[in-house]
Amino acid sequence: MEHHSGGSGTNKNKQMVEQLQRYGVISSKKVVEVMETIDRALFVPDGTPAYVDSPMAIGYNATISAPHMHATCLQLLEENLQPGMHALDVGSGTGYLTACFATMVGPQGRAIGVEHIPELVASSIKNIEKSAAVSPLKGGSLSVHAGDGREGWPEHAPYDAIHVGAAAPEIPQPLIDQLKPGGRMVIPVGKIFQDLQVVDKNLDGSVSIRSETAVRYVPLTSRDAQLKGY
Ligand code: SAH
Repeated sequence: MEHHSGGSGTNKNKQMVEQLQRYGVISSKKVVEVMETIDRALFVPDGTPAYVDSPMAIGYNATISAPHMHATCLQLLEENLQPGMHALDVGSGTGYLTACFATMVGPQGRAIGVEHIPELVASSIKNIEKSAAVSPLKGGSLSVHAGDGREGWPEHAPYDAIHVGAAAPEIPQPLIDQLKPGGRMVIPVGKIFQDLQVVDKNLDGSVSIRSETAVRYVPLTSRDAQLKGY
């Protein structure tokens, strides 16, 4: 249900977060805080309804995920996004979740976005500059890079948290390798039918995987395949 009480964008962002709480999608205070801090409207293309709970096209055959998916992933990763921790956002798109991660891990932590469409990397940096995550960007604890996210981003590995924003046919090994013991990855896996998988690396280096929920994401693929429409 949309609210029609008007008010500023920030208020509407807050109403969106309250609705996700009412629906039981968010139960964590930290996730409420970060989603209130990072205004979603700054990350969607002009003219796109920012606060509707649905994915929206962002060009290049990509989408910004729906608010409830962002909330679900933040909540699954919350313990691994504590101050000082390292987080990797693969297929960072608009930069929304990278901005949330940077806000949660703080100036002593590290939030890295990897995105293979250079134009989206550039626009995500502009989005982040307008948002409350501008200080980690300026301070160097947040960065977004153009590259194939299936290779991860070895420079700042190992990661406490890895989020993948596009569906992989199978979990890329470099991402498992770059997960810290005690770390957690959240990744949609599958082709047409996809599961959001939660991959925990145990302290002995073994990996436990469970399925959280059925999802529908754009594929984690090559840039060429994506630009041709898969
Ligand atoms: N979390 C982002 C999701 C964007 S959609 C958001 O909510 O804004 C998925 C993104 O993954 C797209 O931007 C797409 O360009 C990117 N992507 C797909 N395959 C990729 C790959 N191999 N490497 C890096 N990025 C990839």
